[in-house]
Amino acid sequence: MTRTHRKRRSTWIDITFSTIIIALTVATIYLISLNGKNTAASPPKTQAAKPTPVVIDTIDSSYPGIKIITETSNDTYSPFAIQYPQSLHSTFNDAISTYITYTKKSYLTAMEKNRELASKYKGELNISFETLSHHSGNYSFVIVNSNSIVGANGATEIRSFHLNPVTEKIISIEDVFKWDQKRLETISTLVRDHLYNDSTLKDHLYPEELHLNTEPVWENYSNFALTDDSIIFYFDEYELAAGAIGPPIVAIPLGAINDLLADEFKIQVQESDSSLDENIEVEKPDDGTTPDVNAPPSNEEQIRDIDQNSGGTPLHDGTGETIVKKVALTFDDGPDPKVTTQILDTLQKYNAKATFFMLGSRVEYYPDIAKNVKDAGHELGNHTWNHPDLTKADSEKIGNEINRTSTIIETVTGTKATAFRPPYGAVNQKVSSQTGLPVVLWDVDTLDWKHRNANRLLMKVKEETKDGSIILMHDIHQSTADGLDAVLAYLQSEGYIFVTVSELD
Ligand code: ZN
Repeated sequence: MTRTHRKRRSTWIDITFSTIIIALTVATIYLISLNGKNTAASPPKTQAAKPTPVVIDTIDSSYPGIKIITETSNDTYSPFAIQYPQSLHSTFNDAISTYITYTKKSYLTAMEKNRELASKYKGELNISFETLSHHSGNYSFVIVNSNSIVGANGATEIRSFHLNPVTEKIISIEDVFKWDQKRLETISTLVRDHLYNDSTLKDHLYPEELHLNTEPVWENYSNFALTDDSIIFYFDEYELAAGAIGPPIVAIPLGAINDLLADEFKIQVQESDSSLDENIEVEKPDDGTTPDVNAPPSNEEQIRDIDQNSGGTPLHDGTGETIVKKVALTFDDGPDPKVTTQILDTLQKYNAKATFFMLGSRVEYYPDIAKNVKDAGHELGNHTWNHPDLTKADSEKIGNEINRTSTIIETVTGTKATAFRPPYGAVNQKVSSQTGLPVVLWDVDTLDWKHRNANRLLMKVKEETKDGSIILMHDIHQSTADGLDAVLAYLQSEGYIFVTVSELD
């Protein structure tokens, strides 16, 4: 009985094992055949699985403790160029990395889907960032993500990240306004006023979306940057207005909302109020702050006056007709390996000469690019080492910022800088007396840093350029490099010749 029982039991075990083995074998054979089919049937997929190598590069930034990571892929179908900051603090790094990884993956996945639909059009993903500092020690990192996926319109979104590298504190918009709903309501009203009064946005706004996305809800204001002068709010393209005008940006002077700010962000009181008024209200194209709507109108007139006095006079023939019109193209805040190089190529195509107002800190990082600018025959300008507002600096700092930059430009290129442009156009007697170089401002502000839109670059130039104009652009924004060809083609067709700022005199 027992024996039989045992025997029956072992038969069961045998059957079970055999079944499992057969099942596993069948499954394995099936899987192998599937795999074989895939590789055999669709060679393009195998190619797709072997992406062009991604080049990752790390350099120090001019901000202590902050490195710049660059990831590039020159894949012919789904290329990308991504730049983001890395600090010594893991919470901050994780937040950035999560955003970058997600964005990159979404782009590559969408592109792959398009490839399956047999679309051959290539996509584009460009992520760059700017660093804005505030006297509290906070750095705002503004990440600009422009992408274009086949079959959809390109879009730009802006995300901000914050870090105080010394205290390791990461702030949110709630911290800036002390988590106070009342204060947020005031901000909401101010932002709406700015949007409705912004002449470049006029006719492009979507009133309903605008209202919804500027309601006093913290999340609506979560993308912001702090400078010593302003708080800047960023909205996504299409969020409030038509895509043609790019992502709307609103800057509110801190002076106007000082009472609403948490103590650490309050504006520092200056000794001389009158000099402050004269100097800080000048348009601030470089650090992302928009010109203040309350700025005295005299600034622009002043710049125009300077321009007219300094050689805007057209050359005339005997009949009084203009025979040649001059325009000076200027590029600030570079050099940049990718953008400056593309701009040099475009200028060469039109045999155009321009002036590059370089930051010493960037010349130090990219000496070869600075040298290329010189070798191409352009004028070299000094734009300070670190881009501070010199009207707020003491004489020693002013001297350092200017001299150190002139020295590195000469060391690297073998040529002296021959013009000086103060950051933000902020200049007073003290600053100009220390430069030893002609101070050059501008009369046509393309606002390229603000709209990041290649088409709007041309729009601005068309609207404002006249004989003798000095056009302000920045050779750190991809959209500027992309829009330049159309600008040069237009100006050439209008009879302009391209000169350096010194040749304008
Ligand atoms: Zn600048």
